[in-house]
Parts: sequence; C-alpha cells; structure tokens
Amino acid sequence: MKLSALGRIALATGIAVLTTGVLPSPAHAAAAPVKKKILPVLVEFSDASFQYPDKVKASTPDTYFGAKKDSVTSFLSEVSRGQYTMVPAVKEQFVGPIKLPMKAGGCDHGQINTLTRAELTKRGLVEGKDYDSLSMVFPAQKTECFWAGLATVPGGTTWINLYGTASGLDVVGHELGHNLGFAHQGRLVCTGGKLTACKSDGGSAKTIMGGGGWVSGFSAPELIRAGWLSGSATLKVTKSGAYTLRSLHGVGSGTRALDIALGKDRLVIEYRHAAGSLDAKIEGVHAYRVPKGAYGSSSIIDTTVKNKEAADADAIKTLTDKTNKVSVAVVSSGGGQARVKVALNGESLSAVEATPTKTATPSPKATGASPSASASTEAKVEVETGGSEPVTETSSGTDLAATGTLSSTLPLAAGGGAALLAAGAGVLVLRRRRKRA
Ligand SMILES: [Zn+2]
Repeated sequence: MKLSALGRIALATGIAVLTTGVLPSPAHAAAAPVKKKILPVLVEFSDASFQYPDKVKASTPDTYFGAKKDSVTSFLSEVSRGQYTMVPAVKEQFVGPIKLPMKAGGCDHGQINTLTRAELTKRGLVEGKDYDSLSMVFPAQKTECFWAGLATVPGGTTWINLYGTASGLDVVGHELGHNLGFAHQGRLVCTGGKLTACKSDGGSAKTIMGGGGWVSGFSAPELIRAGWLSGSATLKVTKSGAYTLRSLHGVGSGTRALDIALGKDRLVIEYRHAAGSLDAKIEGVHAYRVPKGAYGSSSIIDTTVKNKEAADADAIKTLTDKTNKVSVAVVSSGGGQARVKVALNGESLSAVEATPTKTATPSPKATGASPSASASTEAKVEVETGGSEPVTETSSGTDLAATGTLSSTLPLAAGGGAALLAAGAGVLVLRRRRKRA
C-alpha cells in the first residue's frame, strides 16, 4: 500500500502534521483490537533439519499463541492494553516443517524468504488475505547466521534462527517490535541531566527493543509510535505546568506519557511501575529523546552513573536543556503515580510551582482515581501516529508502507535480548537496507 498524501507530508515534516489530522475519539482505546494474522512456518534445508522436530512443533504454537503471559499474543494484548494482538493464520497454528531446496550455509535470508513464500503460494496461502505476518523458523546449526532473529522495519516478515527447541518471546517479540517500526532503543548518557552534552552508550534496558527483555514491554515513545497511547493517554505539553502521570503499563485511565517539544526533537516522559506481568523490576520517571519526531527511534536519557541493577537506576530527577529552554523536575514518584514539573520557554521550575492553577493539588496522591485531572486543561492535543497506516521511518520516499517491499533488516545477536547489549553498537551499525522484488 502506498502512503496517502497525508502520510507523505508527515514523513517530510514530522509528527506535528499528523496531530492536525485525525484525532482519536475518547472511544478509540475501547474499540475492537487490531488483529493481525501471523503465520509461523517451520523451515528446513536440504542439508539441515530440526534436531528435535516434535519438540519444535510443540513449542511453536506455545510461543506464538499460548495462554501463558510470555506468548506473542498475550504479550501484544497486554502491552497494547487490548488494542492490538495477533491471531493464528491457519487452524493448525503453524505450517511445516517444509524443506527448502537450498543449503543452510551462508545465511541467505532473502532466499529463505523467497522459497518459503513460493511454497506457501503452492499451498494456496496468500499474503494479505490468509496471513499478514510471516515468521520463518529454521534450525540454526548450519546457517552461519550471526543473529537469532531478523525483521523488516516496519513490515510483516521475521526470520528466527532457532537454537534449541523453542524460539521464545524475547527473540520473537523483539523482531515483531521491528515489524511495528521500532528500531533498537539506545541510551544517551547525559550526566547531571544536561541535555546539551550527551554520549550514546548501549541499550536502554526499558524495552524489549533495548535489551530489557519482554518483561519490560515497550517504552512510551514506542507505544506512541504504535498508536497505543492515543486519546488522553499522551499529553502534549505546550505550557509550563505540573503534571501527573500514572504508570505506563497496566489497566485504567490517566496520562501515561508527556510529549514535549525539544527543538526539532521531542522529549517523552513516562512513569514506570510494576503492572500485570510487566515492569516488576522497573520503577520511576524516565525520559527519552525522540529524534525529529521518529518515535520508533528514541533513546533513553540517562543522567546517572550509579549501579544499573537497581529498579530506579535510570529514573530522572531533573533535566535541563538550555538550547531549547526546557526544564523538567520530578516532584514525586512512587506507588503507581508520579508528578512532574515542566518549564518551557526558559521559565523557571520554581515559578511553575507557584502557578496557582497547577499547585491546587499539592500531593500527587490526592488526585486519587483521576490522575490526569490536574493536566486536563492541556489535554486537547494528542499524538496520533497514523493508526493502521503507521508513519514509517525509512526515508526512501516510495512505497514505504507496502508490507515487505522495502525493508531495513536489523540483526539481533545470537542469544536474544541480553546479547543485544553485549553486542553493543556493533549491532546497530550492521543495519542495512535492501529492496526485495
Ligand atoms: Zn533487533
């Protein structure tokens, strides 16, 4: 599908254009979930088969569609708060193993894709009608692939280079995150909270896209990118004030992200707290820099150098950006709620506190069941990233939204999320673009 005119303008000028487009109604979040049909296909080579095919056959439906919390469907339903999930494309839940007429060596993922799709066509399975997303799972032993998973960004194709007998959500969920348009999430070390002097260093550990594993879900910028923080869930801050945030994940209403202009970039603030099966080990207010409105390509802003094992290790207290005249200070944080002051246009944070309309609620706890109430006067402009036709971050300009016709492939180092951090920036450098016929 080609991008609409609105989509093309948005690509050229950033997210602000889309905010003047279709604003979601309050009922948006309660609408029926988007359901994408995913087709896992077990693939073997002329010279390599699964070592334990029965175990792989048993684990595949479990990984993708199982009732447990760490299946693809459970995870996507939970992290999108019921707005998005995946369903089996075929009654049997997966296809295969099918033997491709190619050798495993050389890791020719393009050929694996071409031959797998040809076999599916023979079997009468049509992309776009019978399935939206194709996930090819193959034995790793002879492929020489240096990654555990690969994906189109965005798109509907994933490759799983399977070691052992089950691919697991940390790999498959990460790759499906790429399909949603998410890059790897990095870390900007900005010691002392000064945003004008930051160094890039490693992954964020706050999302499955940044080495955090599935138990961290996705971060606020990614949820905005996916269109899952629409309505009052995202507050676009256009005036200095004190704002109340509820936890990013979990059921209920309230503001989950602050979205602030930082020159041509955006600054997204979230509050993380254990909710459901997510964030058991993440606590506190976190900040992300979004380059030029590309919400899928954000980096966490890390202001400390302390022990990264603590739940609140990367939580911010203050941020200052003298160039863009923005200051942020956390007033309180904990117990499922945080209060954050934002000063724009060079105004002082202490003046924000003195503003009567913003200090009517001295304690964040006092806002009780309506945590967004204090910010309601600001909540008129929300960020909408395009719903079913997401803005893409690839910049070629042609046929960007067509599933799979243009892709960046991002390798994930063998071993899943933890290894992503170990591989460090090298993984990001290996990003490459290719055009498939
Ligand atoms: Zn990746």
